[in-house]
Amino acid sequence: ERQREAVVEALENVTARLDEEKSHLTDLDSAIGDADHGANMTRGFRKANEKVQDMDEADPAELVKTIGVTLVSEVGGASGPLYGGSIMSASQAFSEEGITAETSVAFAEAYLEKVQDRGGAEIGSKTMVDALTPAVHTYKKSIETDDLEPLEALAKAVDAAERGVEFTTPIRAKKGRASYLGWRSVGHQDPGATSTLYIMEELLATAQ
Ligand code: ADP
Ligand code: MG
Ligand code: MG
Repeated sequence: ERQREAVVEALENVTARLDEEKSHLTDLDSAIGDADHGANMTRGFRKANEKVQDMDEADPAELVKTIGVTLVSEVGGASGPLYGGSIMSASQAFSEEGITAETSVAFAEAYLEKVQDRGGAEIGSKTMVDALTPAVHTYKKSIETDDLEPLEALAKAVDAAERGVEFTTPIRAKKGRASYLGWRSVGHQDPGATSTLYIMEELLATAQ
């Protein structure tokens, strides 16, 4: 029950943050894309928020899966299947023991793997993968090797994601719409890496 509330609260915080950042994400996407990333993300997360409100009996895995399914159907574009499909399939990590330090690492790893499988982007492609990869590796190492509490591990992962977002600015896009611009994509921060950071910041704020 506490876990259900935590998931719903995290989703509310993420949704509110994306609403706040909608025009910023749109500006980033208008520089190197088609100016819809803010609208895509807020539409998807608002709908996911509505969907989970009446899932009183659901366990964390079902809730997280529902968020993914909703994002797939509402967000569209490149980011919908990447965010939604990957959340959907990674939600299985919570199906047996709910959300623990261990299962949260399994979720993060499965999520990253799916994003990479689906999108084919690597570090340096100038996508959400640039924020996500260092974040997931940092989170896993902090928990499994350094024996940190999930909250501290998440704080370190957010720092890593932030550096990953900064790294997207000076590089040339190799995946997604921004790649059509070739060298003209240089000097612009990637929208999807940025929204990934905002989501992680809100997960951290919710856990604190
Ligand atoms: P679209 O580009 O279809 O309009 P969005 O604007 O919602 O979709 O999302 C764009 C973001 O999606 C990019 O900033 C990038 O981070 C991410 N993205 C695009 N293509 C890929 C890919 N192949 N792999 C990983 N991320 C990608
Ligand atoms: Mg776009
Ligand atoms: Mg689009």
